[in-house]
Order: sequence, then C-alpha cells, then structure tokens
Amino acid sequence: KSQANYVPLTPLTFLKRASAVYANRTSIIYENTRFTWRQTYERCCRVASSLRSLNIVNNDVVSVLAPNVPAMYEMHFAVPMAGAVLNTINTRLDAKNVATILRHAETKVLFVDCQFVSLIREALRILMGMGDSEKQELLVPLVIVIDDIDSPTGVRLGELEYEQLVQMGNPRFVPIEIQDEWDPISLNYTSGTTSEPKGVVYSHRGAYLSTLSLVLGWEMGTEPVYLWSLPMFHCNGWTFTWGIAARGGTNICLRNTTAYDMYRNIASHNVTHMCCAPIIFNILLEAKPHERREITSPVQILTGGAPPPAALLEKMELLGFHVTHAYGLTEATGPALVCEWQAKWNRLPRESQSKLKARQGISILTLSDVDVKNEKTMESVPHDGKTMGEIVLRGSSIMKGYLKDPEATSKAFKNGWFFTGDVGVIHPDGYLEIKDRSKDVIISGGENISSVELESVLYRHPRVLEVAVVAMPHPRWGESPCAFVALKQNEAGKTDEVTESDIISYCRKNLPHYMIPKKVEFLPQLPKTSTGKIQKFQLRAMAKSFHVT
Ligand code: ADP
Repeated sequence: KSQANYVPLTPLTFLKRASAVYANRTSIIYENTRFTWRQTYERCCRVASSLRSLNIVNNDVVSVLAPNVPAMYEMHFAVPMAGAVLNTINTRLDAKNVATILRHAETKVLFVDCQFVSLIREALRILMGMGDSEKQELLVPLVIVIDDIDSPTGVRLGELEYEQLVQMGNPRFVPIEIQDEWDPISLNYTSGTTSEPKGVVYSHRGAYLSTLSLVLGWEMGTEPVYLWSLPMFHCNGWTFTWGIAARGGTNICLRNTTAYDMYRNIASHNVTHMCCAPIIFNILLEAKPHERREITSPVQILTGGAPPPAALLEKMELLGFHVTHAYGLTEATGPALVCEWQAKWNRLPRESQSKLKARQGISILTLSDVDVKNEKTMESVPHDGKTMGEIVLRGSSIMKGYLKDPEATSKAFKNGWFFTGDVGVIHPDGYLEIKDRSKDVIISGGENISSVELESVLYRHPRVLEVAVVAMPHPRWGESPCAFVALKQNEAGKTDEVTESDIISYCRKNLPHYMIPKKVEFLPQLPKTSTGKIQKFQLRAMAKSFHVT
C-alpha cells in the first residue's frame, strides 16, 4: 500500500474530473441562472477557501437550510472541500427542531436561504435560550444568507451573503486533503417518523461507493438531465448531488415541487431523470390541465421512501414516466435495494408488472447483503414470500453511526448486521417485499396484517387519494385494522358521496375476511412528517378513541 495505489475514496474527485472532461457543459440550470462544470468547480473552490478564512477547520459542522437552489448543490462539494462536514437541514422542520439540530451538531457556520430567514431567526432565539449564559456565544453559528437572484428577496439576517463568499474566495484553492476515507463527509438527521431525530453520519468512502453504485445501477449514462424533485436535504439527494457530477449531467434546480414547476421544467429542459417519494406521484397525476405538459420522451423516475402503491405506478407509466422502485433509509445513504427489472416481465399484463414493481427488490451494488431475520431466533426466514421478519442490511452504504449516540448505534448494529426496523418477506426469486415498519404491523386475533398490503388495495379505489391503515384496539381481536382515507375531489370539487360502507364493501371484494378494516374514517388530508410521510402514530392515537364491537 502506498500513496500511489491507496487513495482515500471521496466523491469530491467527481467534481474535479467533471471540470476537466465536461468543462463547458452546462452543470446547473435554475430559472435564468446557468453554470458550466468549470464554473461550478471554481465556485466551489472559492466557497471552500472562504470557509477556511472564516476559521472553519477540519471536521467542523457547516449546516444549510435551503431548497434545491444552486448554492445548495455547490455546498455538497464546497463544504467537504474545506475539510468540514455538511449538515443539510430539512426545510419543513419547525424552529424548535432546527434549534435542537444546530445545538446537537454544534454547527459553526449556517447557510440559510432567504425563504427561511424568519424560521432561522426563531430557531436562533430558541438556541440562545438552550445553553448556559457563558457558552451562548459558542452555540450561535455564523449565519450566511443565500439571496436568490431568481426569486423575490426575503428578510435580511446576518452580515454575509453567499455570493460574497464566492467573490472573495480563491478559485484555485486546493481542497483540503482527505486523511482517511472513513472521515465524515455529511450529517443527516432522520425525519423522526417513528422516534426522535438522530444524526446519521456518512463517511467519504460510503458516500463515494453509494454514489457510484446508484449512477451505475440506475443506468444513467452520460449527460443525464436531472430534475431536482427530491430534496437535496434528504440523504444528500440520495447521493445524486455527487452522482450528477460523476456523470457530467445537468442539474435542473427547483425551488418548489408544484405540478406546474415540475412539468414546466421537464418539458423545457428535456429532463431524462428524476427522483421522488411516491407522494409526488399524486401531485403529477392530479395536476390540473393548465399545469400539465406532455411528456414527449420517457422520464426515468427513481422512487422510494414509502411504499409506492401498484395502482399509482401503473398510472405513472401511462403518463410517460418510467418508474424504478427502490427501498432505503437515511442510515443506508438512501436507496439500498432496487427492484431490478427482468426483461421477461415485459410480456406480462400491466397490472402484474406493477405488482412486481411494487416489491422493494434486491441489494444495490454497494450493499453486500440483505436478509430477513426472525426477531427472536435471529434465523433467516424461508424465501417463501410469506414468512415475515425484520429486514437487515450490511455493506458499504451503511452509515458510520449516529452522532454522539453510542447507545442507539449499538442497538442498530447487531451480529454484523444493521437492523432497519422494517418487516418484510423474501420471495422465492430473492426479491424482498416490505410488509410494514415493525411498529405498524397490525396483529389481529394472532394474525399479522400488513398495513402496506391493505393500503395498496385501497389505492385502487377510484375515489381514494390517500390512505393509511393503522391498528385500532378491538375487544375480541386485540387489534383490528382502521383505515384513514382522504378522498379525491369529484368534478364539482366535492369529496362527499363515498361512505364507510362503500369502502368496506370494496375491501370485501378484494381482501380476505380477517384483513377488512373494522372502521373507515374520512379526513380532508392525512397528517404528514416533514418528508411527506404519513404520521401513523398520530392516526393510531386517534384510532384508540374509536369504540368498535
Ligand atoms: P424515517 O424513518 O424517519 O421516515 P427515512 O427517510 O430514513 O426516515 O425513512 C426510511 C423508512 O422509509 C424505511 O425504514 C421504510 O420504513 C420506509 N421506506 C423507504 N423506502 C420504502 C419503500 N420503497 N417501500 C416501503 N417503505 C419504504
């Protein structure tokens, strides 16, 4: 081993290469702003050198609260090029959660997009109240505003602006050398669907390998035109922040994921690829005629983060989107399994294809192994598509650990596996299918009911927009399924007409008797987490008060 043949792996090398190979190719498009790969590289060098002159040293945390604007993209390179760790904060959190993260991460510099200045002002006020008075100054980071020239200016805060850092920086700055590929590159807090948010740390090595495995696995080819419909704050955009540089693609930045903005950008820039949670499908499918544009060449979509109902997958394909389904979690740097398509499935009817596609699949290249284990015996379950157990993963995409939380880290890593907290089955062909989060499984009369399976049937009902099934206490069965439903509007813009007994008789036609919900509750919309996932714990709390016989 020497410096000649053993170089720490880091995704930062992708940008340097892109600046040479794709020097004049467009790297970023955002409304009226355009950059080339050479410019992007130079801008990142400038920001990195400015961060060093602001006293950022190795392993300091630099946080960012911004939508998918160019500065947010650049930060994925500039911050680690300065030797620091990038912490992208979920923009949908409230001030208290943001303050908790800033304190836990010990953020030194905070970049904030003009849209979120008032949120940050409140978060900083809370942060000031958190420490003892002597240490308060240490707690409060230096705030730098990202002022968006392509959208109305927000409220001012702090002394410095992002573009000033670009201007005062050195375009020939030599990035801080990575000493060890196991050093941290980024810090992402979990969205807290089931527990308190935890700080997930990625290494340069893990980020490099996950990036390569996703761009290769998804067959991106060179020069993809990539629409940023997935927040970059979500697992660093499932690593495509670094991946688009690796492929010399074009980043289409996007402030808001409205149907109008997505369709407009897809059509004007001939988007080839995009990632999103299944919740975005509803936005695209329910778009009003004036918001829509025709999809003239197929757009590849990678989806995951929540189960995509087969019924929605089918409709997306009909619109011209070609969907690949992946499963993952923050702790696995985003997608860890992908439902690799088999050519022989092309001959099947569309409905069977969607059912196969709704399965979560098999490991991506950098994941060495995936298994489903019986929680008590720790034995692997048979590959019969029926026996449920906990999904466990191992491989290079798995996080280093939780920041300053050895207890949670050792709970997650056991016997050489990472335990996901999800329950699934493995089919005879080796493809995995998630049945539930372990906390969401409904145990009715000793029978395990998968809420995901029940929901996927209900999504086929023509008037159902969103559905979530949770356990409700039942005097005879212990628990029984309760469905919360948000309806689509009808032609007249109304959501009535569909009744509880309509939904129940629909279930009777399509499900075995023991799985039929004992209660259906209609809500105007379902409660969601900051990443758009349905908050089942809230629904469970509501279901507790329902009395059924
Ligand atoms: P949180 O656990 O707070 O929601 P994550 O964003 O890391 O944070 O979510 C990961 C979880 O999302 C997984 O553990 C799993 O329960 C769910 N999930 C991810 N991808 C899929 C998928 N393709 N199908 C079903 N569930 C999924």
